[in-house]
Amino acid sequence: MIEKEKYDKINYYLNLVSSKNYNLLMYNYLVYADYLKAFGSLFDHERNIIDKALGGKKGNTNQKPINELSIFDTLDICSSILESIDDMCGTSYKSEFTNLVNNGVFDFDFRDRTLLNPVVYNSSSSFQSFHIDREKNQLNIFNRYIDVVLTHTYNDVCTIIHEFFHYTNAQKNDGYSRPVLTEAFSIYFEGYAIDYLIKNNICSAKDLNLFSRLFELRKITVKSRMMMAIGGAFVTQGSISDDTFNYLKVHKRGTVINEEDYIKYINNLYNTLCKYEEEGSRLENKNRYKTVENYIVNKFNVLLKRFNYGIGTLIAYFEMVYGNIYRMVSLNKELSGNRDIEYYMERLEFPLEEIKDVCERDKIDENDNSEINLTEGIIKIDDAVKTIIERYKDYLLVDNEEKKKH
Ligand SMILES: [Zn+2]
Repeated sequence: MIEKEKYDKINYYLNLVSSKNYNLLMYNYLVYADYLKAFGSLFDHERNIIDKALGGKKGNTNQKPINELSIFDTLDICSSILESIDDMCGTSYKSEFTNLVNNGVFDFDFRDRTLLNPVVYNSSSSFQSFHIDREKNQLNIFNRYIDVVLTHTYNDVCTIIHEFFHYTNAQKNDGYSRPVLTEAFSIYFEGYAIDYLIKNNICSAKDLNLFSRLFELRKITVKSRMMMAIGGAFVTQGSISDDTFNYLKVHKRGTVINEEDYIKYINNLYNTLCKYEEEGSRLENKNRYKTVENYIVNKFNVLLKRFNYGIGTLIAYFEMVYGNIYRMVSLNKELSGNRDIEYYMERLEFPLEEIKDVCERDKIDENDNSEINLTEGIIKIDDAVKTIIERYKDYLLVDNEEKKKH
């Protein structure tokens, strides 16, 4: 079906990825390759809702907000948002935030570094670098930045709040829970910021990219799902080969339902790896990855990280609808500890166990081609996403009506 040379390359890099970053990647692959099956139908379902909500497949991602916000205005608004959380929850986010701004942790002009390392820095992020003190045998943080690419629109407020929350649960040595869950907290508080901006009439809904997370969800449906399924097959079944197709089919993993799709996907993956090899050798020694192998491992990491945004969005929207801010604030504090993902999911009342059940159940019948039955838990997640879509559509509707009045 597929040439051996293609499988060899794919297996070589999957092997490399799993040996370089074992804990995080294996957890992602193993656990999420399973959840994926349940989420798969959910994502497909959402994809239609999102298309419908936005009036077409392309939506309005390129909509250019018209306002020109100064950085001082932006920071002021961020402070008041954090103050409102402090008032409710007894936290001290506002003063923490002010300290970070005053100490230069926020970097609003990091394009210098972007020029040096175009591959690494291209979007807003909160990141830290470490060094190991060999004498004391301990890990020290020597640099923590929050990089923000300013657009001088109200979206900057949401970006800064998002990155700030990553910072609040950062830790010296991430276990596997934090990298997976930190997006859920950041996306939740970013959603809080959106609601705050609109409910306090600071800006109008049209000034914000309300649906950007949902677009990301849709992108994941298309792009990452098969990769996670292949990764899961690699972890549980060993090297990828023609047999992998049957495995994916029986276990209803990814979107594989026919051989044609599978062959197409494997060929695409192979071509992508060839492209990365070429890119990597061109950039060799010119970026922080030093070797082609490291470059490609990082590409996989980026892919995995994107998947965390999908899960993060689902958890965040779930909490925005069924949860409360007190729970999020208190769990955010605990996220810097090193607990199992199950612990957080239970506290969030996110129906993780049910998703696992669906996955287990659907492994059984090889000849059953029926759709996966959505259980109560998954329907609940589904409804949460729909509720947020409706909420944002209402925001836009009010906007339009006010425009008509003037
Ligand atoms: Zn983030």
